Amino acid sequence: MRMGKLKIAFFDAKEYDRQSFVISNGKNGSDNEEFDICYLEARLSPDTYKLAEGCDAVCVFVNDDINSFVIDKLCEMGVKLIALRCAGYNNVDIEHAFGKIHVVRVPAYSPYAVAEHAMALLLTSIRRIHKAYIRTKDFNFSLNGLTGFDLHGKTVGVIGTGKIGRIFIDICRGFGMQVIAYDKFPAKDSGIEYVTLDELWERSDVISLHCPLTDENRHMINSKSMEKMKKGVVIINTSRGALIDTEALVEGIKQRKIGAACLDVYEEESDVFFHDYSNHIVNDDVLARLISMPNVIVTSHQAFLTNEALGNIADTTLQNIHDFFDTGLCANEVCYKCANISKCNQKHEQKCF
Ligand code: NAD
Repeated sequence: MRMGKLKIAFFDAKEYDRQSFVISNGKNGSDNEEFDICYLEARLSPDTYKLAEGCDAVCVFVNDDINSFVIDKLCEMGVKLIALRCAGYNNVDIEHAFGKIHVVRVPAYSPYAVAEHAMALLLTSIRRIHKAYIRTKDFNFSLNGLTGFDLHGKTVGVIGTGKIGRIFIDICRGFGMQVIAYDKFPAKDSGIEYVTLDELWERSDVISLHCPLTDENRHMINSKSMEKMKKGVVIINTSRGALIDTEALVEGIKQRKIGAACLDVYEEESDVFFHDYSNHIVNDDVLARLISMPNVIVTSHQAFLTNEALGNIADTTLQNIHDFFDTGLCANEVCYKCANISKCNQKHEQKCF
């Protein structure tokens, strides 16, 4: 039985996070918040870990930097749990965390939000909606330069056929597209046509990434894989920025090999995404070059951002923390062994160590 309220240091807090977590934390009655949550604007990093002093858990998001140094410091301060309020955990040194501090995550909050955003980006890009919107705002009703192409009958190559990838496949089928896919662990009896990566590069008119970032697939889209692609291919990335070698992508667009890029994630996003730099000179020349291109659309890691997803993120994160401290069991715990299914020795709904 725990004494008093658990204290949580909530890093990289935004207004929309706070709104959903306040509701979720007060679900037992508004005067009866279960957790004492300290909302911090700062990201968790080697410079800010001290803000978690006296806390039982830290709650973090995609761009907090939980490296081995931060993990050691959190352990020294008595923090017991890293609660990710996202699905991916590539920003946590989970191998270093093993045996020291437990890590929980939100494996799914709204796969529809991300899959629908991927299609929104694709349609915006190929039908030039981003251009048309600005033109008609300025009473420019010319159609020159706005010619798009039909999705119907085109081939989409989906990399990663998990929760989000499968929904994206269904959406694409609704548009009459032919779907081919690559997954390291293909789903049996799914009715999905799995192909090798090389075949996917060669056959796809549109390529959409829906797999996690690992050491093995970092920069899977690079100059070599782009050489194998069709001229004019559209690349969509709503997964993790480092799946694409961005400098090679810029080159591919300049060479007119890549027809368009729809990017909700960017490999150097942690320095800029989620902040307002509209009155600043951005120092990242690669990002500036990308944004300057008429056939590139960048959104700042917003694919997850729906009311439904935010509510689910808050509910699952707080439930994870509750389960971990109250029952000792948490179905959503992750460790580096879980990341490799063949090594995973976690018995269902038990702690990883
Ligand atoms: P999931 O775990 O349900 O599915 C991932 C799929 O990728 C699995 O089928 C797995 O077998 C496959 N996979 C693993 N390694 C692979 C590899 N090397 N090559 C090809 N396939 C591989 O995950 P999900 O919920 O569908 O999420 C997919 C990704 O979307 C996440 O890893 C995360 O990076 C990203 N994501 C982005 C946002 C956003 O807001 N932009 C939000 C949520 C998730």
